[in-house]
Amino acid sequence: MKKLVILGSGFAALTTIRRLRARGADADITVVSPRNELVYLPSLIWIPSGRRRGADLRMPLAGFFERQQVSWHRGAVQGVHDGGRRVVTDNGEIGNDYLVVATGGRYLRALPGIEHAIIPCEGIESAEAIRDRLAALDGGTVAVGFATNPQEPGAVRGGPMFEFLFGIDTLLRQQGRRDRFRLVFFNLSTEPGQRLGRSAVAKLLSHMARQGIETRLGHKMVRLEADRVVTDGGAFDADLILFMPGLTGPAWLEGSVLPRSPGGFVACDETCRVRGLERVFAAGDVGSYPGPDWMAKQAHQADLQADAVARNIAAELRGGGPPRHEFRTELACIVDTLDSGMLVYRRGSRNFTLPRSRLLHWAKRRFEERYLNTYR
Ligand SMILES: Cc1cc2nc3c(=O)[nH]c(=O)nc-3n(C[C@H](O)[C@H](O)[C@H](O)COP(=O)(O)OP(=O)(O)OC[C@H]3O[C@@H](n4cnc5c(N)ncnc54)[C@H](O)[C@@H]3O)c2cc1C
Repeated sequence: MKKLVILGSGFAALTTIRRLRARGADADITVVSPRNELVYLPSLIWIPSGRRRGADLRMPLAGFFERQQVSWHRGAVQGVHDGGRRVVTDNGEIGNDYLVVATGGRYLRALPGIEHAIIPCEGIESAEAIRDRLAALDGGTVAVGFATNPQEPGAVRGGPMFEFLFGIDTLLRQQGRRDRFRLVFFNLSTEPGQRLGRSAVAKLLSHMARQGIETRLGHKMVRLEADRVVTDGGAFDADLILFMPGLTGPAWLEGSVLPRSPGGFVACDETCRVRGLERVFAAGDVGSYPGPDWMAKQAHQADLQADAVARNIAAELRGGGPPRHEFRTELACIVDTLDSGMLVYRRGSRNFTLPRSRLLHWAKRRFEERYLNTYR
């Protein structure tokens, strides 16, 4: 039986497993990751308000792995060598016939003073730190901003930052203390979130105006200080800074055989095959893929890439020849405000937004429940 090794146990990795098994792929599958759990990152936005606790978002995977007949190798990948056939981890080496790289992205930390900001998307601890800092503040300024990877402008995580901002605004109103806080949104672009489409940007900015959220747009970041955000258009005081830098690929790619894109991600073709390597694929945030400039680093997109990977490997295992299934590019997200949500959709030339409604907030919660049930 062929040996398939999957690096990571996030969205892309787990969808690859489900789709492979659904297609009857008869392979010996091993997953390599530091913890056998899925962290449901999209719901981090509900931790500051206490609507979710960290434990709610950690989904143990032992049962899922057993059902899918997958072995789990505890370890962090340190390198991939010999044309992809040899994986080095901090817990030994593993060989493979097929390799799927799905270890996600990493945040750039080049901005001077970045240590003064909470990077909300880094994980549960960061979201809990926001919750605790907010609770400890009597009032003051909360500054929220994000940036991109200059080498690969699509490597940006803007959507969740709008959600943290709007969620904090709603939370403070619910707590009856919004009047003691100034909320400031800052961004290099005068059209922040433009990958979501023009109509979405207009709706996001008008929501900010309506809620009394100040904006500082069109200025390059210079540095962060303990209590100040400094841009080339001036500085402003802040008691709490939430900042999402651009994304890049994992540090372990350094010294590996995997080719890298200008932004530091694994360079893939439209079938998610890693360029120049046989039987090596990537899916999710770790990769750089050909497609429209609005292609998102999203769990939804990771799932679509994982689906293509599974189709290609399953076909090859059946003797179907080289990969030919291309992944679908689609952006679908609900930008949540804690009590309502706005839907943004993009595929091909179609791009629309559905205005804010309570129903969309509930749809996002329902989606989370259904998604996690898959692994329960
Ligand atoms: C706050 C927030 C809100 C979001 N909201 C949405 C949303 O509404 N909709 C949406 O579609 N997307 C959303 N996203 C984006 C989405 O979570 C990511 O795009 C998605 O997690 C990418 O999946 P992935 O499998 O590529 O990577 P990840 O989910 O990051 O998984 C990476 C996996 O690799 C493992 N790993 C890391 N390093 C190593 C190593 N060295 N060796 C082995 N394993 C390793 C990790 O432990 C993890 O299991 C949001 C993200 C955040 C942070």
